[in-house]
Amino acid sequence: MADACVTVIGGGVVGLAVAAELSRHYSPLFLLERYPKVGQETSSRNSEVIHAGIYYPSGSLKARLCVEGREMLYRLCESHGIPHRRITKIITATQHEDLGELERLEKHGKGNGVNLIMLTADKVRELEPQIVTVGGVFSPGTGIISAHGLMDYFFHAAREQGRSTPALRHAATGTLAQPHSPAPIPRLRRPAQQAQRKRNLPNGSGSWRSATSAR
Ligand SMILES: Cc1cc2nc3c(=O)[nH]c(=O)nc-3n(C[C@H](O)[C@H](O)[C@H](O)COP(=O)(O)OP(=O)(O)OC[C@H]3O[C@@H](n4cnc5c(N)ncnc54)[C@H](O)[C@@H]3O)c2cc1C
Repeated sequence: MADACVTVIGGGVVGLAVAAELSRHYSPLFLLERYPKVGQETSSRNSEVIHAGIYYPSGSLKARLCVEGREMLYRLCESHGIPHRRITKIITATQHEDLGELERLEKHGKGNGVNLIMLTADKVRELEPQIVTVGGVFSPGTGIISAHGLMDYFFHAAREQGRSTPALRHAATGTLAQPHSPAPIPRLRRPAQQAQRKRNLPNGSGSWRSATSAR
């Protein structure tokens, strides 16, 4: 493998998004993925919901990034034709004693910066006549997205914007510290594939991140 400025480990949605962004600034860039195709793990086995950010703990980074990232994601989908729909969501209560919990959720979500609207039972039924309800909270920002559509977009953007090369069937087994390099380089399963002089090493190997960083 030739010298590279940046190597990204892992071709899930996080690694692909990082590769797409960095490929605008660094070239050449390698994306290491251990499987023959990208996006074969968690990123293609999820619910494909664009979350509003209602439930995350107040003041947390997750809450802030979910609220900011959601609108960025909708804009990205709209400008690049990535399949998605802002289908909205209603959280309903079926018993009067649950209305207090709905109010707590509404207050918590609003504290996170999420636009939420309390609905009476009649209003919920107006929107969704089949629902048995005593009231609800309406989330206009919730949506759905094609996870594969999003990953395809990042994959092609990374290839087209810079000289980015996906190295499929390449598993990083750890990292090697380099005395004269500001960042470690990835250690690969097959030594012949060993990448040289990687200046930066973003790690997007999902649940396996600690395994590929620690050794
Ligand atoms: C049941 C479920 C439902 C979810 N629903 C939603 C939802 O509706 N909306 C939402 O936004 N999020 C949802 N999520 C969360 C979301 O799916 C994850 O946050 C996201 O997919 C994580 O992406 P990732 O790129 O970090 O990880 P992954 O998709 O796991 O990607 C990691 C990649 O790294 C590769 N890799 C690992 N180790 C190595 C190595 N040593 N060398 C080379 N490559 C390696 C793997 O093969 C894989 O391709 C859900 C998660 C679950 C489990």
